[in-house]
Amino acid sequence: MQVRMKAFLEEELRKLEEQKLFKHERIIESQQGTEITVKGKKCLNFCANNYLGLSSHPEIIKASHEALDRRGYGLSSVRFICGTQDIHKELEKKVSDFLGMEDTLLFSSCFDANLAVFEALLGEEDAIITDALNHASIIDGVRLCKAQRWIYNHGEMGDTEKTDHATGKKGKGLERCLKEAQDCRFRLIATDGSFSMDGDIARLQEICDLAEKYDAVVMVDDSHSTGFLGKTGRGTHEYRGVMGRVDIISTTFGKALGGASGGCIVASNEIVSWLRNKARPYTFSNTVSPAVVGGTIKALDLIMKSTELRDKLELNTKYFRKKMTEAGFDIIPGVHPIVAVKFGKYPDSSKLAVNFANKMLEEGIYVIAFSFPIVPRGKDRIRVQVSAAHSTEQLDKAVAAFINIAEKCGMFSNNEIGN
Ligand SMILES: *Cc1c(COP(=O)(O)O)cnc(C)c1O
Repeated sequence: MQVRMKAFLEEELRKLEEQKLFKHERIIESQQGTEITVKGKKCLNFCANNYLGLSSHPEIIKASHEALDRRGYGLSSVRFICGTQDIHKELEKKVSDFLGMEDTLLFSSCFDANLAVFEALLGEEDAIITDALNHASIIDGVRLCKAQRWIYNHGEMGDTEKTDHATGKKGKGLERCLKEAQDCRFRLIATDGSFSMDGDIARLQEICDLAEKYDAVVMVDDSHSTGFLGKTGRGTHEYRGVMGRVDIISTTFGKALGGASGGCIVASNEIVSWLRNKARPYTFSNTVSPAVVGGTIKALDLIMKSTELRDKLELNTKYFRKKMTEAGFDIIPGVHPIVAVKFGKYPDSSKLAVNFANKMLEEGIYVIAFSFPIVPRGKDRIRVQVSAAHSTEQLDKAVAAFINIAEKCGMFSNNEIGN
C-alpha cells in the first residue's frame, strides 16, 4: 500500500468527520417504500425520490421478472455491437411518445446522459449557457465539452449583471449571456427542470422565448419532474406550457419512473441519431439490463394509462404544504413534492436542523437536514419529499412529529434550543 497517500487520506477523512461532512450511509433492511426498516426499526420514509410510489410496485416487479425470464440477465455488450433487444427499442419509443418528442436514446444513468450530450453536440465555436444551480452531472458534462461557457444567476432571465441571492456571487442574467454569445455558431441553454434543493421550477416559458429571440437550443434535465409534473405528468415542459418548444430533454428512470436506474436523452431524430453515433458513454458503456428495461416500460404504461398517481401526489403535496404552513413552519412556497422547511432564522440554525432531523428519525420519520457548509449560512433546511404512496395518516404523523419536536426545541417561542 502506498504509504503517503494512505496517510494523506486518513487525515483528510478525519477532517471531514470533524466538519460533519463525512457521508454516512443509513442501511435499509427492507424494500424501498413509504415504510422502511432502518436498524431493525420501522420508520416512515420522507426522503426518497419515490414520487409516485413505484419503486416496489407489484406490477413493476412482475414486469421486471418477466423481462429477466424472457430476455435474460445481461447483454454483455454495448448497444451497437450486440446489445440492442426489441425491449430497448420499445422503451425508447415509449419515452418519446410520453414526452412528445421524436426519438430517445437510453443510457445507464441520467448522469451518463448528461456527460454525453454536450461533448457530442458542441465544439469550440459554440456556447453553452447554464443555470448556476444545475445538477452536478450537467456541470461535469459541460467540463467534458470544449464549448465556451456562460453561467447565469439561478433563475435570472434578464439582460442584467448583479449579485445572485442564491449563491452570493456576482453573475449575469440569461439574456445578457445570450447577447454575449451571439458570435458563436450554436448557443445551448441547459437547465434543470425542477431544482432539487428548493423544489423550484425553471421558468421555461421565458427561457424558450429568449431562445427563440437569440437563436438558441434549449435543453432541460427533467429528472425531478418526469412522471408527475404537469397535468398528465409529462414534466416541466408540460407544466410550463412549452411542449414542442424544448429541443432536448434528459431524464432518469431512477426517480419517479420505478427508481431502479437508467436515463435517456429525448430529442429530434437528427439529434438522437447524432448521439447514437457520437456519444461516448453510449458507444463505450454497456446496455441497460433487461430487468430494468421491463420495469421501466411498465412504469410508463401505468403513468400513461391514468393520471391517478400524479393526481394523488399533487393532493398529498398540497395537503402537506398546507398543514406545515398552518403549523407555523416556514417552507419555501411552491407546488413541488420537494418541500424545504427553513431553519435559517433560528439561533444556531445548522445545529438545530441536524438535531431536528435526528430527533425526527427517533420518532420514526426519516427526513434529511441540509445545513452549513452544504448550503450557505442561513439557508439551513430539512428537505421533505412527499410521495403519492403516503397515506393521509402518514402525512399527519410527519406533521405531528415536526410540531412535537419544534415545541421541544422551543422553536415557536424562539428560545435557545437544547440538545
Ligand atoms: C438525480 C439526477 C440526475 C442523475 O440521475 P441518475 O439516473 O441517477 O444518474 C441527473 N440530473 C438531475 C437533475 C438529477 O436530479
